[in-house]
Amino acid sequence: MITLRTLIWFVVAAVAMLAAVWLAEQPGVVTAEFRGWRLDTSVGALMVGLVVLVLLGVGGWLVYRWIMGAPGALMEGWFDSRRRRGYRALTQGLAAVAAGDGAEAQRQAKKAEKLLAEPSLTLLLSAQAAQLAGDQEAATRAFNAMLEDEQMAFLGLRGLTSQALRGGDQAKALTYAERAFRLRPQTPWVVHSLFDMQAQLGQWKAAQDTLDAGVRRKVVTPDRGRTLKAVLLIERSRAAERDGQAADALALAREAFALAPERIAATERLAELQIKAGEGRRALKTLERGWAVVPHPDLAQLYLKASGETDPLKRIGVIRRLAAHKPDDIESHVALAQASLDASLWGEARRHLEIAGGSNPTVRICRLMAEVEERSHAEQAKVHDWLARATNAPADRTWRCSACSANHGSWRSVCESCGSFGTLHWRAPGTFGQVLPPETRAQLEFAPSTSN
Ligand SMILES: [Zn+2]
Repeated sequence: MITLRTLIWFVVAAVAMLAAVWLAEQPGVVTAEFRGWRLDTSVGALMVGLVVLVLLGVGGWLVYRWIMGAPGALMEGWFDSRRRRGYRALTQGLAAVAAGDGAEAQRQAKKAEKLLAEPSLTLLLSAQAAQLAGDQEAATRAFNAMLEDEQMAFLGLRGLTSQALRGGDQAKALTYAERAFRLRPQTPWVVHSLFDMQAQLGQWKAAQDTLDAGVRRKVVTPDRGRTLKAVLLIERSRAAERDGQAADALALAREAFALAPERIAATERLAELQIKAGEGRRALKTLERGWAVVPHPDLAQLYLKASGETDPLKRIGVIRRLAAHKPDDIESHVALAQASLDASLWGEARRHLEIAGGSNPTVRICRLMAEVEERSHAEQAKVHDWLARATNAPADRTWRCSACSANHGSWRSVCESCGSFGTLHWRAPGTFGQVLPPETRAQLEFAPSTSN
């Protein structure tokens, strides 16, 4: 390329020279007159003069550009160093956030803000620094400013959600989480926090929609989605019953039971409504199916109620029918012991309790044994023995929260101590239960952390 260009220049120069020589040799004369001045010259000399003038003009223009351009270049250099210092402040600020130094982070954030004048870069640092330094107002201001920027809006909403939760304003947190969900419905924290908030506020239908979206987008595993949906349906069934919509209540309970028969609460809900609707036989079937999956003392009570049987001896037969669906389970033996005790069949009661207790009977079984001995008028020493044993016996299964391990007297969908939804299971302390299939621990974390 260079050689070609040089060649062209040579050709142009040669042509120009030849043209100049040819012009200078032309005999023509030019005469100009201006206010008494008179110029006589040849055409060639005039042409050369013109070329020199043009060259001088171009040269002058280049010198002018160079002089005028210098301050601009200087300004550019100054801005460059300003931006560099801004970025350094930003980096140091982020490092301070990571190190948990709120005051230093805020100092660097202010510096970066001033030097960079680019809010999309510095707002997040400012917000995090303010949060770290405990300056809630400044943090809220920064998060709100992030909403203006399309790229930062989502992060701003996350910050505002956690700010609102920390301040105890659930309604506000919910509106921010809903906005975040509309922006990015595939982000796990959004799905989980929104679902938890809706469930805690009793917005069952909305929570179900969020859960469905979470399962569709693979943020929630299908199995977890299934059991949580069953719990939501139980709550919706309760709400429908309260509103006097018995048919809806029954339909929702049926759906919950079909989804998760291993949820004792689903079996109970459906059986209760069936008994209420006068469908005793259906209730018996439901309870038998539920018992086969997870037996529970409350199910045995409902079974007796559904049967309508009042004769104590015949009630043993009723319980025997139920127990036949899981004959070797502890609960089957305890239910039979209880029925035998009610019918004053001490030997039968003792036999079932011995099987249920094995070598290490739990508190409940020790107490039932004491009751058998007491009511059968055995020696007082035996009663005292069992009562003494009860004080050191292993604890029974109870409704335990898998998220915070708190115990509850009865089942509920939202844990009273940590607010988790659908985490109450029928379990013994310190175990994941001998009957329930091992389930994954609740993965829903309520308050999203903004520091990572
Ligand atoms: Zn809990």
